Amino acid sequence: SGVWVLVEQQQGELDPVSLELLGEAQQLAQTLGQTVGAILPGKDIGNLTATLTRYGAEKIYLLDHEQLDSYQTEVYAEVIADLVNLHKPEILLIGATSRGRNLAPRLARRLKTGLTADCTALSIDTDEKILLQTRPAFGGNIMATIACRYSRPQMATVRPGVMQPVECEGKESVEIINHDVSPVTKPDITILEAIREAKKKVRLGEAKIIIAGGRGTGGEVGFKLIEKLAEEFGGEVAGTRIAVEEGWVPVERQVGQTGQSVRPELYIACGISGAIQHRAGMQNSRYIIAINKDPGAPIFSVADWGIVGDLHQIIPEILTQVDGEKV
Ligand code: FAD
Repeated sequence: SGVWVLVEQQQGELDPVSLELLGEAQQLAQTLGQTVGAILPGKDIGNLTATLTRYGAEKIYLLDHEQLDSYQTEVYAEVIADLVNLHKPEILLIGATSRGRNLAPRLARRLKTGLTADCTALSIDTDEKILLQTRPAFGGNIMATIACRYSRPQMATVRPGVMQPVECEGKESVEIINHDVSPVTKPDITILEAIREAKKKVRLGEAKIIIAGGRGTGGEVGFKLIEKLAEEFGGEVAGTRIAVEEGWVPVERQVGQTGQSVRPELYIACGISGAIQHRAGMQNSRYIIAINKDPGAPIFSVADWGIVGDLHQIIPEILTQVDGEKV
């Protein structure tokens, strides 16, 4: 029993996807009448339990061990499989981060259960009390709902930015279970040193304002306008897969099914047709403004405001209106 979340942290810093998954786990657990569990692996990470409790964890399985300091697939898979086999949760949710994608299939194999990767929605079938796991399939043309009827736990990875963290007020009772980690005797890999990437990490998933460009920007000149708009509004620049393939934006700024899922307060789509694979990553944004010269572009179906016209005229006009600046 229990709806569990595998918590990701790096050097004591929680990955936001873990809190998003706890938010979703609260709803699933409530429907099933079960508790929310969190697996917290690492070294000297006990101080993170307060935040996990605040975001809905009712039982925290603390795996505190030297060997878990840096992520290693083999060690993590073995230790977490041991814990899951011992307590047998009903559901196990993992972030579809690079670590999560690496770990989840190996874990599923060890636990002899199924895994639905990259889910965009989760719910409970109240008759059968099973987890319904929805994800895009066939190149994003349909949404498939997958159930794992006969094996447990029911495992899913969920993309960052899709679910929402939910803070619980005044929750006092949390059970912290210190799981005795038996070290892996001879891991194949030894981590010598972990070095943080120096460049500023693009966290599109956390951006409040995103200005995205597509093929319709026409390239460098169009993207210069997008950068200006982003600067003016204090937002992040993003792009479609075409913009990435053309080399106009780096791959970590791609929004969509094979890029990042985002839910900013404001998403401005410039010269983007709104293919289903792109919409899958941005349609949960609070407000969407689309600028496109084709009035029939599908992006207008998800936009709160649509501006039909040439972005090379419209963006400078917006900048002039906002700033009085002539562009
Ligand atoms: P287009 O579809 O070519 O649209 C350009 C738009 O710009 C048009 O609507 C046009 O009217 C408009 N335009 C042209 N000139 C101007 C102008 N001067 N002013 C205003 N508007 C103008 N795509 C993603 O974005 N993200 C993904 O993660 C992703 N994953 C995919 C996964 C799979 C399996 C597959 C098959 C595809 C995936 N795609 C993804 C690609 C997707 O199908 C589309 O091809 C892509 O999103 C289209 O990008 P676009 O909107 O930039 O280009």
